[in-house]
Amino acid sequence: MPLTDLYDNYIIDLDGVVHVGWSPLPGAVETLQELTRRGKGVVYLTNEPRYARASITARLRGFGLSVSVDSVITAGWAGALAVSEGGAAVYVIGSAELRAEVARAGGTVLSAADASSADRILVAGHSDFSYAELRAACRATAAELFATNRDPTFPMPDGPWPATGAILAAVETALGRTATVLGKPEPPIFRLAQSRLGSGRTVVVGDTPGVDVLGGRRAGLATVLVGSALTTAETRPDHAVADLAGLLR
Ligand SMILES: [Mg+2]
Repeated sequence: MPLTDLYDNYIIDLDGVVHVGWSPLPGAVETLQELTRRGKGVVYLTNEPRYARASITARLRGFGLSVSVDSVITAGWAGALAVSEGGAAVYVIGSAELRAEVARAGGTVLSAADASSADRILVAGHSDFSYAELRAACRATAAELFATNRDPTFPMPDGPWPATGAILAAVETALGRTATVLGKPEPPIFRLAQSRLGSGRTVVVGDTPGVDVLGGRRAGLATVLVGSALTTAETRPDHAVADLAGLLR
């Protein structure tokens, strides 16, 4: 029986499932179009912290998918919502698009020069990470420490690139503190994704056992592992498929 007979709603990871870098994976777009044609609920849930939801929506539309911004949940956005609560002063180690998400969410984004007065620090992977950012975070001695995720790398066409977890290790070491993670595999971001879906049976689809499968299980949801990553007792999915098109087979 195809998995599409079992589930009404799909919480789908992006990197390594729908695309790698800026190229869609074979069969992914056709599968997603077919899910929509069958009236399935689809939400995209990514630990990507570098791009705003609008940018990711535009990328998916460029693949030929009909996607609304509300159906895209990123760890960057979940992080922005959490750290901005109460109009907090936030020092962001992250991209310009992430800083803009924090400002849109109502946070006061501090420059490195003002980091010492931060209520909260938000750490997210980005390609301009610098020693100056690390120094600024060290000055925010009273700030609560948050991170979008702890993924060590993300897949790119030429191999894995360092992700938030690699940068977070440097920040946690320098500050001597452990961050609260706001993206996958923590349950709140799955609840945020579920709030965008109707009633019915929901399944989480992803390619990283310790992020997608563990997160789905902790949120009490069924899981599909895409690809051939090794699993443990803690990260064993309910179903495994070679690629996204496997949902239809
Ligand atoms: Mg992935």
